[in-house]
Amino acid sequence: METMLYDYLTVNEEGRLVIGGVDVRDLAEEFGTPLYVLNEDRVRENCRKYTSAMAKYFREGSMPLYAGKALCFKGIYPVIDSEGLGADVVSPGEAFTALVAGFPAEKLFFHGTNKTDEDIAYGLESGIGYFVIDNMNELAALDREAGEKGIVQKALLRVTVGLDPHTLEAINTGKVDSQFGVPIETGQAEGFLKAALDAENIDVRGFHSHIGSQIMESDSFCDQVDILLGFAADMMEKYGFTAEYFNLGGGFGVRYTEADPLVDIDGNIREISEHLKAGCERTGFPEPKILMEPGRSIVADAGVTLYTAGGIKTVEGYRDYVTVDGGMTDNPRYALYKSEYTVLNASRADAPADFECTIAGRCCESGDRIAENIKIARPERGDLIAVLTTGAYNYAMSMNYNRVTRPAMVMISGGKARLVIRRQTFEDLISCEL
Ligand SMILES: *Cc1c(COP(=O)(O)O)cnc(C)c1O
Repeated sequence: METMLYDYLTVNEEGRLVIGGVDVRDLAEEFGTPLYVLNEDRVRENCRKYTSAMAKYFREGSMPLYAGKALCFKGIYPVIDSEGLGADVVSPGEAFTALVAGFPAEKLFFHGTNKTDEDIAYGLESGIGYFVIDNMNELAALDREAGEKGIVQKALLRVTVGLDPHTLEAINTGKVDSQFGVPIETGQAEGFLKAALDAENIDVRGFHSHIGSQIMESDSFCDQVDILLGFAADMMEKYGFTAEYFNLGGGFGVRYTEADPLVDIDGNIREISEHLKAGCERTGFPEPKILMEPGRSIVADAGVTLYTAGGIKTVEGYRDYVTVDGGMTDNPRYALYKSEYTVLNASRADAPADFECTIAGRCCESGDRIAENIKIARPERGDLIAVLTTGAYNYAMSMNYNRVTRPAMVMISGGKARLVIRRQTFEDLISCEL
């Protein structure tokens, strides 16, 4: 069938979508809708694309770090850990989640543009492996806190390389004018490194930069490597500091619709590695260990959201709306970025997708849409609607606007589904209210 983007999605004899061997009707009957469905087998496959390519092409000690911001909940961490990845956390809340799930603290990298003194203390006390220091203020605060605790904290310095990769403005973070990191171009990154080398309680191990998300090709990463190498070689000459690590930030893009390419992760990592090795030869800089922080490309295409259709509303002379029992509260990405998704009628997955409609959520908000003017098989009230590639930045960005409760999540492995996040109750909604 045309809309089949992944090999683990099939259609059974009754015409229903089957995810990782489980019929969507069984999922909906057992767990209700809306429901986040995460295919664990697929998550593991995605992890292995990075671990195997990075082991093959980069120096020993290189590794992928799972960017928890894409999908952070306890159940993901044992999977990530058993696949041999480290993890990056962008807040103490993410660190806490990873740690209570048993993830080793020394394999955590602690991000964040504004770590408070409490955040810093929490990170130090938890034994987090590396801080990714964002700025001079944080550097001073971390040095002081670490000193008080008698800790010498390993760290990377976040620098901005001044690149503008071809992605959405809202998810482009590598350009000079940005609130993330310290720019190389203005000379400030040099002062940042000098201060870090002078800080007694900080052990600087390298540089981090993140150029953006949903990047489909290696060329932007190669440009990033060039700028980092130029800077690192300069710093080696001036201060005798040899960066052990280059952390290249977020991973590759994913295929949300058929218009997006399928990214060859192995091939792209090989190209980055060839570029890096040539650059090291040219500049005389010793080959650094490489870290990457894929989030989206680990979990996105392992996720499917299942909704139940409320029905069709025809606005005569305009268009047809299909309403679902979720929407921007479980997937705010269309409202935020007009992000496109592949949608199908999972109850009639074998029928032609010839009904043009707009999928609307249940909030009192005209922007509450999942997709506009797309084609699916004409649904009836009660049909299951599936939105594909929702594993990243959906649950992570979900909210209780309009007091809509957050959906449950199941993880599928070896043809079996298990509940990993229970559905919120009305009591959960008022649980913090005194
Ligand atoms: C967002 C982000 C990531 C993850 O990006 P993906 O596109 O999900 O791979 C990694 N590192 C940093 C610093 C980020 O801000």
